[in-house]
Amino acid sequence: MRNGIGFFPHRLNKDGSYDSICLKCLDTVARAETEAELVDHEITHICDATRLAERRFVQPPALYIRNAVE
Ligand SMILES: [Zn+2]
Repeated sequence: MRNGIGFFPHRLNKDGSYDSICLKCLDTVARAETEAELVDHEITHICDATRLAERRFVQPPALYIRNAVE
């Protein structure tokens, strides 16, 4: 689902429920029985600042490849 806040892919679980994933902080925003129920959670989602700070120290894979070639 795309909205003004960001893009939240939905994952279909084995039990038929759906998870909404935040691509910025990689948290599971919500789990619901229908995708429509996820929208309210996505609109109100605020990324965890601690998790975002931790991710700043992770080097993207593209940089690993570039460093290995140089
Ligand atoms: Zn988030």
